[in-house]
Amino acid sequence: MDLKQIVRDVLDFPKEGIIFRDITPVLQSPEALKESIDQMMDKLDGVDFDLIVGPESRGFIFGVPLAYNMNKGFIPVRKKGKLPYKTVEKEYDLEYGTASIEMHIDAIQPGQKVVIIDDLLATGGTSKAIIDLIEQVGGKVVKLVYLIELEFLKGRDALKDYSVESIIKY
Ligand code: AMP
Repeated sequence: MDLKQIVRDVLDFPKEGIIFRDITPVLQSPEALKESIDQMMDKLDGVDFDLIVGPESRGFIFGVPLAYNMNKGFIPVRKKGKLPYKTVEKEYDLEYGTASIEMHIDAIQPGQKVVIIDDLLATGGTSKAIIDLIEQVGGKVVKLVYLIELEFLKGRDALKDYSVESIIKY
């Protein structure tokens, strides 16, 4: 199955000049949903890890089924102000302005091995901020897996010290 054919390109969303890679048709199709989860899971074959970390909100969609299938725990990373308990926080740059993400302070024990899952790798800014949160509490990032990678944005360069895998490349 060619998953790339199922991703919908939406022009000029959320603003002019951006081609938004819309994964909702992949989620809508039982076959494509299964194929995307299975292919991401294949990238973790033989990888020794304890936890999956996924950012709100599309990282939840792919992270939880992978964690469930592989008998691992799932740790949500959320936008500032959403998590109820004590958190660690990281501010990072967006194209305009900044954003802050948080993770619970006790989500990861020192030395635990962590995989980061998200729908799409663009500049790598979000992933770099997540890595920072994980390392702040003593976790070790062993791999990052994405359904989609926008290669021309060179997110891999921002993550050059880490192992990066993706399924669909543009
Ligand atoms: P970045 O921090 O630049 O790697 O961007 C990561 C997040 O932005 C991803 O989790 C996506 O959800 C979202 N994103 C960035 N560019 C696009 C795009 N062209 N289509 C869909 N989502 C995007």
